[in-house]
Amino acid sequence: MKINEKLILIDSFGRVAKKLRISVTDRCNFTCIFCMPSQPIWIPKSEILTFEEIERLVRIFVDLGIEKVKLTGGEPLVRNDIELLIEKISNIQGIKSISITTNGYFLPDKAFKLKEAGLKSVTISFHSLDKEKFNSVVGKNVYERVLKGIDTALDAGFESVKMNTVIIRGYNENEILDLIEFARDRNLILRFIEYMPFDGLHLWDLSKVVTGKEILDIIKKKYDFEEKPRENGSTSQNYRFKDGKGEFGIITSISRPFCSDCDRIRLKADGKLVPCMFSKDEYDLKTPLRKGASDEEIKNLIRTYYYRKFAGVEKLINAQLLPKHIRPMHTIGG
Ligand code: SAM
Ligand code: SF4
Repeated sequence: MKINEKLILIDSFGRVAKKLRISVTDRCNFTCIFCMPSQPIWIPKSEILTFEEIERLVRIFVDLGIEKVKLTGGEPLVRNDIELLIEKISNIQGIKSISITTNGYFLPDKAFKLKEAGLKSVTISFHSLDKEKFNSVVGKNVYERVLKGIDTALDAGFESVKMNTVIIRGYNENEILDLIEFARDRNLILRFIEYMPFDGLHLWDLSKVVTGKEILDIIKKKYDFEEKPRENGSTSQNYRFKDGKGEFGIITSISRPFCSDCDRIRLKADGKLVPCMFSKDEYDLKTPLRKGASDEEIKNLIRTYYYRKFAGVEKLINAQLLPKHIRPMHTIGG
């Protein structure tokens, strides 16, 4: 379909893709219990898209209407010289924003280089203010280092620095108010994420999901806030504190997913296109790319695959069906 002579990516439900999440590697230096399996099987290096291949695909996606790119992983900063990729992508005409989601470990060394390369915004995952608890959930003694990463990102002058916190019953729901205080003190935009069934250890079950409503009820006990209008396609419902000191959001992927206006598409590190993370469907772009397909041919493949995008997890939840474990989160990137 053409709008103003520009091709767009549209699925059979009329949803138009605007945002591309690229997992640049499935590898990670942490082993978060809600993400990594005990014996991860890494994609062989030769099967991982090169920066040149990613750049070419991003150009093609931009021709198809993609405006925003988020780099994720695994841990995107374990990929050597990632700033070169950021520079390539931020120089593509039509890209309105490029951001990254990271565990923060490499930010003390990398934050300024990333900013210089054109990165606009950073989201750092940080799940507990309790040192022992944090270290045990990420599987490494890195609490101070991640805190330093957050501070360095704040100093580097990005347009926004956000913090992702996965809330899991019995682990950190008792820290919600403290985490809010931590984020407000630093001008960090905090996003609570409902625990999703993408944990490599298969520990997820519905009883461990602290719902958005429960999170709001806890925050209400201490703070006055109001709901902000939801941006089309946003995964997060955001709220502003009435005292003017910042905002927070909740990504209610399980209790209230926003599938009907989803505008995301994902690319795995091995070049597989994933239109919806709650579906097993994935489509190989690397083989045609490496076999010499033209941009036009790849565009047509992407359009065909995106058209088939699954309705979404909302459909399962409305039918009172539990979402299933599809793939571990480190292979898709959240
Ligand atoms: N390594 C980077 C990081 O941790 O920020 C980027 C990749 S990570 C898979 C992307 C996001 O998914 C992180 O914010 C992480 O906390 C979140 N995540 C991982 N497993 C999750 C799960 N089972 N449910 C909800 N969010 C999860
Ligand atoms: Fe690594 Fe991020 Fe997964 Fe933790 S959530 S294991 S940091 S990819």
